[in-house]
Amino acid sequence: MFDIQTKYVFVTGGVCSSLGKGVSTSSMALLLKSMGYTVNVVKVDPYLNVDAGTMNPYQHGEVYVTFDGAETDLDLGTYERFLNQRMYRTSSITAGKIYKSVIEKERKGEYLGQTVQVIPHVTNEIKETIRKAEEVEGKKVDILFVEIGGTVGDIESIPFIEAIRQFSLEVGRRNCLFVHVTLLPYLKSSDEIKTKPTQHSVAKLRELGVQPDIIVCRSEKDFSKQELKKIALFTNVEERAVIKSLDVSTIYEIPLLYKEQELDKIMCEYLNIPYKTPDLSFLEKKINILKNIDEEVTIGLVGKYVELKDSYKSIHEALFHAGIENKVKVKIMNINSETLSEEELIEALSKVDGILVPGGFGRRGVEGKILAVKYARENNVPFFGICLGMQIMTIEIARNVCGISEANSTEFDPKTPHPVISLLDEQKKVTMKGGTMRLGAQKVILKQNTTAYEAYKSTEIFERHRHRYEFNPEYIPIFEDNNVVFSGFSENGLVEIIEYPQNLWMVGVQFHPEFQSSIFQPHPLFVDFIKASVSFLRKSPD
Ligand code: GLN
Repeated sequence: MFDIQTKYVFVTGGVCSSLGKGVSTSSMALLLKSMGYTVNVVKVDPYLNVDAGTMNPYQHGEVYVTFDGAETDLDLGTYERFLNQRMYRTSSITAGKIYKSVIEKERKGEYLGQTVQVIPHVTNEIKETIRKAEEVEGKKVDILFVEIGGTVGDIESIPFIEAIRQFSLEVGRRNCLFVHVTLLPYLKSSDEIKTKPTQHSVAKLRELGVQPDIIVCRSEKDFSKQELKKIALFTNVEERAVIKSLDVSTIYEIPLLYKEQELDKIMCEYLNIPYKTPDLSFLEKKINILKNIDEEVTIGLVGKYVELKDSYKSIHEALFHAGIENKVKVKIMNINSETLSEEELIEALSKVDGILVPGGFGRRGVEGKILAVKYARENNVPFFGICLGMQIMTIEIARNVCGISEANSTEFDPKTPHPVISLLDEQKKVTMKGGTMRLGAQKVILKQNTTAYEAYKSTEIFERHRHRYEFNPEYIPIFEDNNVVFSGFSENGLVEIIEYPQNLWMVGVQFHPEFQSSIFQPHPLFVDFIKASVSFLRKSPD
């Protein structure tokens, strides 16, 4: 639509982490996308893991899986959900990935005769790797956003800041924009918003050679023009380019908040690109629906890492999208399957209108999850099992419906006499942990006249995977004899979806539908699960 050369927006973080830099980056990208520009986003994580796949969700939050099978930081999920477009593996860079590549090149002799150093070898590798994301699905994008993880001042992020400084010189400073997202802490005792940490953080950034053009100030309290002026003066940024980003009831209000402060115009002006009013009417409509919702449905999320919301971030988001679609607020009740006693679990489950068992690994907390499936089945509560949740549903039905009392997954009991869930053939020789699961999107063929088909209204879908175990096909006949419906298979015959139609709504999927839901396109399975939960709620006596 516009004929421009690729422009770059670099986003850094100041003062502390968890400021919602991913949401800020996505909101800015959405403003430009809503003008008609094509965009892509890269997340740079300064840790030494090659990807996020081997990290504990308690430390790092959920592992987000891209369509092409990369295990990435959860910010990629935020980008996809805001922009309603796919991110690919080129959108995820870690220090580990960069160093691995530099060391492999060194071993191959590509730097023969040279001393391999952070500058220029690592910084060159960073620049080249960033540029790989300029092209998406065969086309060069108009604007590439690059979010640098961590906080300015961290030892780990220094080579990355140096690389983006060099980058801006190479592609031309007028083709780049530096945005610094920072925190203005509020001091209760003096009832003040403090700007000093921001001043220091920008000073640190400038020391590394980067002068920000725009400062986005996260703050839980509103602040005066006085503070804005002070930040502008001390950080050497135009006053109008110091943007307030106050806490909001939903993150989807942030692009609107930025637009009110004309951040959209400022970005275009600084990047020397034509401005067009961004069309955000769709978002406005959704926010309007959200503000007028009064019914609430409660979903029990039964897992091991439920205390940390980020561990199941995409699930939380997908439930939220499905809630808006059904015009209900979804309240999530976290139910820890590992620490609660049987009575406590049942007590918690008796308060919910739908039960969801998400993905997971290892045997801890498994028996609690099996109990949750049993409760759902016996009390006709809508149930949604995702990946491990589907495998748990299989074990419960095997034990308590098919009468195979010793049924288990070989993940939890390698010697079980009834391995209803067993290792995928392709996994049998795998010894390395990183990036070796069945990963990414695969075609799933759906059977008509099933709950799954009812939701998707299509016989062919693509869903993302991340697992090593599968439904053992030897057990299909006995399950079918006990009213289980196999409604989806992969092209090479792996079981992808099971249903138990005796229940109001009971579906288990081997894939992760939560990665493909957005406010623009809520996922059909989540939409129908919430719909069933609402009908359960309305039928309940109290
Ligand atoms: N642990 C199970 C497997 O590897 C489930 C994985 C998951 O839930 N992502 O098959």
